[in-house]
Amino acid sequence: MTRKLAAGNWKMHGLKADLAELAAICAAPQPGCDVLLCLPATLVHRGVCAAEGRIAIGGQDCHAAPQGAHTGDISAAMLVDAGASHVILGHSERRADHAETDAMVAEKARAAQAAGLMAIVCLGETLAEREAGHTLAVVGRQLAASVPEGADPARLVVAYEPVWAIGSGRTPTEAQIAEVHSALREGLARRFGTGAAEQVPLLYGGSVKPANAAAIFALPHVDGALVGGASLKAADFLAIVAAL
Ligand code: 13P
Repeated sequence: MTRKLAAGNWKMHGLKADLAELAAICAAPQPGCDVLLCLPATLVHRGVCAAEGRIAIGGQDCHAAPQGAHTGDISAAMLVDAGASHVILGHSERRADHAETDAMVAEKARAAQAAGLMAIVCLGETLAEREAGHTLAVVGRQLAASVPEGADPARLVVAYEPVWAIGSGRTPTEAQIAEVHSALREGLARRFGTGAAEQVPLLYGGSVKPANAAAIFALPHVDGALVGGASLKAADFLAIVAAL
């Protein structure tokens, strides 16, 4: 059985005073699942120190190159150096804001795994793609092309985040989530074999809240969540963790 993972994505939110929320999450009794907060780069090291190993801390992006003349970027090794264990890659906001392609995401995932990070590869369809009936084709293509050749399935997490569900308060139906997660598991199995594919956590993300978390977590092939807005407040995030 894949170990369950409750992951928060703080996006471009969080000053050092907001680490009080992280401290409150860490102060809660140890849950039966893994807990991860992916913080803005400026808070990763402070977050690691504050967490004292009680939860994992991750970044939200890294460059594909190990170092070099890339002003404003950070490398996978820098995240590791700051104490991060995971990095989110190919989030739809990066694909939209920074024109990241599947190929670029794959290169970043390769670099992240080479540095020893768990690569959380995000994918998901737009509303237009869903309404045109292309969801499974889109996520299948994204999975094939965003997970690099030679990827280590033991250092891979896949997050299904329908673009139209992010920050919108809208979620797919349970049947729609189950359909995509089962297709992703099959895609991973074709790539890595059934046994290895079953060990890759498949997270759902997009308007996960305390009110809908338990129903989503009960679905087959849902191994946890990647939570945006509701990860910013300890009470909301802990309620989601408890549902897992
Ligand atoms: P929300 O939970 O705010 O919809 O964001 C989801 C997300 O993008 C997590 O990466």
